[in-house]
Amino acid sequence: MEALDSGARLNAYSFNYNEILGGSIMSTSPKKIFTRIDSTRYTAYNLGNFREIPQIARLSEEQLFEIEVVGRVLPFKTNNFVVDKLIDWDKVPDDPMFVLTFPQREMLLPHHYEEMARLVKAGESSSVIREAADRIRLELNPHPAGQLDLNVPYLDGKPLHGMQHKYRETVLFFPSPGQTCHAYCTFCFRWPQFVGLSGLKFASREAEQLVAYLKAHPEVTDVLFTGGDPLLMSARRLADYLEPLIAAELPNLRHIRIGTKALSYWPYRFLTDADSDHIVSLLRKVAASGKHLAIMAHFNHPRELEPQEVQQAIQRLRSTGAVIRTQSPVLRHINDDPALWARMWNMQVDLGCVPYYMFLARDTGAQHYFAVPLVRAWEIFREAYQRVSGLGRTVRGPSMSTCPGKVQVLGVAETKGEKVITMRFLQGRNPDWIHRPFFAEYDDKATWLDELKPAFGQPRFFFEEELDRIYRESAFASS
Ligand SMILES: *Cc1c(COP(=O)(O)O)cnc(C)c1O
Ligand code: SF4
Repeated sequence: MEALDSGARLNAYSFNYNEILGGSIMSTSPKKIFTRIDSTRYTAYNLGNFREIPQIARLSEEQLFEIEVVGRVLPFKTNNFVVDKLIDWDKVPDDPMFVLTFPQREMLLPHHYEEMARLVKAGESSSVIREAADRIRLELNPHPAGQLDLNVPYLDGKPLHGMQHKYRETVLFFPSPGQTCHAYCTFCFRWPQFVGLSGLKFASREAEQLVAYLKAHPEVTDVLFTGGDPLLMSARRLADYLEPLIAAELPNLRHIRIGTKALSYWPYRFLTDADSDHIVSLLRKVAASGKHLAIMAHFNHPRELEPQEVQQAIQRLRSTGAVIRTQSPVLRHINDDPALWARMWNMQVDLGCVPYYMFLARDTGAQHYFAVPLVRAWEIFREAYQRVSGLGRTVRGPSMSTCPGKVQVLGVAETKGEKVITMRFLQGRNPDWIHRPFFAEYDDKATWLDELKPAFGQPRFFFEEELDRIYRESAFASS
């Protein structure tokens, strides 16, 4: 992992948005400045065409083969911005942005890798490969945290499949055209969506259903558009969802959030795409409606914040009145270094973004490759947190999104001779669980809640009995 100086701040660049745009963010469209440059045209790379990437010539035939093998099981897609502006090809294959986007051999377990490598080498038909890939995928815990059954909301007795409602205040909404991304992250816990694993797709075309559900649930204050990447949708489609939501004037709906990775994976979305100006004006309209508009932006590495285009996209998005909040998991091979996190949070604050969550890698897909033990993640969080001012300490974590809720690792403590891991819920299926400290036996290898044992000889964690009851009731409701 490259060591980054946490003291190095944004003065690494000297870009001034107003200067480039002739004095006004509002009056000049960035399109005029950038359309001369060909790089603003989106080119997607996948298994079918990645050998055309010029920089790929630096890789050996063996490395290319490994990408092909792993890419048959886990989704792979990247684009010209990621390839040209984010990956440091001099540092490949260890470059974190390369690892974030290109499949790596160790992302599959050895026996899975060997099986798939044999089929690809033998030139097996795509149906044989597909069958084996699906079998392997099902062994990778494709739907963690009870997403499939437990979080599905009901309206008039009918399940709403494009939504999830797990925590009282917030409904997740998965607009069907927004279920892909400008590039895929190799760690993504939503990977089953991208490989079309049947039964795992979220989809919703129904803005009316969302409005009806919100009317029936006055306890909901937040809607979070998520995916995939909802900002990959055309402005017109996005408007089809956002405008009815605004027009409904729901008093309980206070906050509209949109999750996105487009700021760093395709910043031209907000600058020079054919409908960039329309996206920006739509978001301005949402913010002007009196609802709080929050962009939940994903940045996994400080390098993603460095390109001028990314910084311009951030400023343009902020000019709509949106608040940009940032989140990322802590990941081995990508960002398991406190200095890197301190630098990333500082850069985000400098750019007017609000650090929000540090997550733990979820128990799905290539978790064995990315997971950082809970205790180590807490050390990284603590050391990074110590190095930023209060403005960066809006961030919470490290947090794991488990079936009962979002569990924060508060740290290691020793009491009466017993070393314990202290945790608490930041979000819970039952809101009453939130912010009650609880304790597990110290375990410096554990990477997930289910690997921990309750401390002090307790048979179960305090929430488990009630969680069992919730499982039983949900099994009853959906049978
Ligand atoms: C994280 C999450 C949310 C949002 O939680 P906040 O703490 O309010 O950001 C909502 N629903 C689900 C299922 C989540 O995992
Ligand atoms: S951008 Fe988000 S949803 Fe898309 S692959 Fe990356 S983590 Fe997953």
